[in-house]
Amino acid sequence: MELLEVVFSSCETLTRTRRDLRARQRAVAFAPFQVLLQSIFSVLFPSDCRLCGTSLDNISRIPACEDCLAEIVPARVPQCVICGDRLASAQLLRGDGLCANCRDCAPEFDRAASFGEYREGVRGLIQLLKYESVTPVAGPLGGMLAQAITELLAGCADATPLLVPVPLHKSRRRSRGFNQSELIARAAAQRLSQRLEVACGALVRRRDTVSQVGLTREERIANVRDAFRVADVAGVRGRDVMLVDDVMTTGTTLSECARILKQAGVRRVWAATVARAYDGADLRLAGDSTSEEKEAAEVPVSASV
Ligand SMILES: [Zn+2]
Ligand SMILES: [Zn+2]
Repeated sequence: MELLEVVFSSCETLTRTRRDLRARQRAVAFAPFQVLLQSIFSVLFPSDCRLCGTSLDNISRIPACEDCLAEIVPARVPQCVICGDRLASAQLLRGDGLCANCRDCAPEFDRAASFGEYREGVRGLIQLLKYESVTPVAGPLGGMLAQAITELLAGCADATPLLVPVPLHKSRRRSRGFNQSELIARAAAQRLSQRLEVACGALVRRRDTVSQVGLTREERIANVRDAFRVADVAGVRGRDVMLVDDVMTTGTTLSECARILKQAGVRRVWAATVARAYDGADLRLAGDSTSEEKEAAEVPVSASV
């Protein structure tokens, strides 16, 4: 009996030893694969918040912590009743609710609104989408855009505008792989209580425009003049259009889009953006240099300047 136990025991030990050996061999064979998996996993599910750097507790497709997302709030500053730019106190005193630009020369769109200011969390999410292709952040950005759209449509119960993302030039779209405005527009459409159609092919960008940074208002207008054309005239004629984009600075691009849409017979044009760089603020303000360098190179075309 004792002998049998010893035999059985040694058999068991041998089996365990072989099993451990095979496991170790498998581990060595799969190590490169595991590294690859981990690197893919860390890209898809990063362990740190990409906005503040703290560790993320949960695996999420959005690489930002709950605190950072909760800190993103709508802009609450006195704004121009047409273009939504921040009003300085001198402009407020005039009482007409217009910024200097709109008083001098009203834009072609009827009204523009943005969710928040182009800074901190909003800016961080937009940069993650545009420059690091973290496409899941289009979801929360779309939620913000939906709020701007809802604000513009308040009091327009009869309106069912087409959502028209500001197009990228085809070469820019090809190199980025997507148009961020289109992704954000689609995400917004899913979150709106009203069902609105996203008409991505309605507008086409005919040419890539040069940097708007440092140009005067007249130069900016000339720079984007005829940069777009309406590709689907029959589809937009007699309709209302809600232009959508990620960032608006001076509104020159959105105004030019509105001009050619109205030329094609569109009734009303509104412009909704996730973020507003107030007073045409330089988009190359402080931030991490890598993103900033990319942004400096890309702003003229990708943002609605
Ligand atoms: Zn964070
Ligand atoms: Zn204005």
